[in-house]
Amino acid sequence: MIPAPFEYRRVSSLDEAAALLGQDDEAKALAGGMSLIPLLRLRMARASTLVDIGPLRGELAYVRREEEIVAIGALTRHHDVATSAVLREDVPLLAHVASLIGDPQVRHRGTIGGAVAHADPAGDMTTVLRTLDATIVVHGRDGRREIGVDELVVSFLETSLRPGELIAEVRIPVPPRKHGWAYTKFRRRAQDWATVAVAAIIERRDGEISRAAVGLVNMGPIPLRAAGVEAALAGADAGSIPRAAELAAEGTSPVSHLSADADFRRHLARVLTRRTVQEAFDRAAG
Ligand code: FAD
Repeated sequence: MIPAPFEYRRVSSLDEAAALLGQDDEAKALAGGMSLIPLLRLRMARASTLVDIGPLRGELAYVRREEEIVAIGALTRHHDVATSAVLREDVPLLAHVASLIGDPQVRHRGTIGGAVAHADPAGDMTTVLRTLDATIVVHGRDGRREIGVDELVVSFLETSLRPGELIAEVRIPVPPRKHGWAYTKFRRRAQDWATVAVAAIIERRDGEISRAAVGLVNMGPIPLRAAGVEAALAGADAGSIPRAAELAAEGTSPVSHLSADADFRRHLARVLTRRTVQEAFDRAAG
């Protein structure tokens, strides 16, 4: 449980962090340390240098509304996402999901940028951000680029970040005021990761579903949208929710594990999708 030796550098600017990370393929950013430190201690990951970006909290920990976008700095902790008045009002799904991550200690250390960069398919954040059509602002030595979560997360614990790039900000388009939302997380123990979880955003017009976004956690190596369910719900009414939910496991590739085999996860995806979409539908006005 002792990590391999590494150098430790605290930085005072994003550019300094990008330069250090760019010099060496084995350097890693350190944010809350909630995922990285256990991996280093178990020697499931190695780092030549840990580039501690904690001192950048003054610059990178914020939640702010910018016209039709809510911008969240990468070092914003899960607790601050869960309790943000802006998010509770404008993007309540995200605030709710942050409140379900781990335990209070994890929520007070772990950051949204770290959760996204860690790219764990069992993590809640990447799928929920994908469901919300969020984009990720990446800061590198050559400037900034903004990409979708689907472009960022490419495989199990793997992102498309290039050497010298860091996540600086998460940007979420504010859903219409009357939208409905729900998140159902099935887990074996309190405060655990999801065996499977489902996120839903529903917009209604004249009793029909005008837009549905449904995300699946832990149903494959990357965060997924249930495209078949979304298509079946578009223009439909509440009566069609059970039939649409039957499509939830289509195109997924859940792994079998001691805690849940793939068939059980597919079953969970269908059942949780039905319940979650119904709850979001009931919460939506219109
Ligand atoms: P770190 O551990 O510091 O870093 C994680 C990875 O991201 C590293 O590879 C690091 O180099 C990289 N990184 C960090 N910040 C950046 C950045 N800005 N730019 C580029 N790369 C970066 N998560 C859930 O979603 N749901 C749960 O229920 C849950 N339960 C947990 C329970 C426990 C007991 C623990 C220890 C963790 C749990 N987590 C859970 C994970 C938690 O959300 C972590 O906070 C998160 O995965 C990583 O955030 P961090 O700030 O601690 O990142």
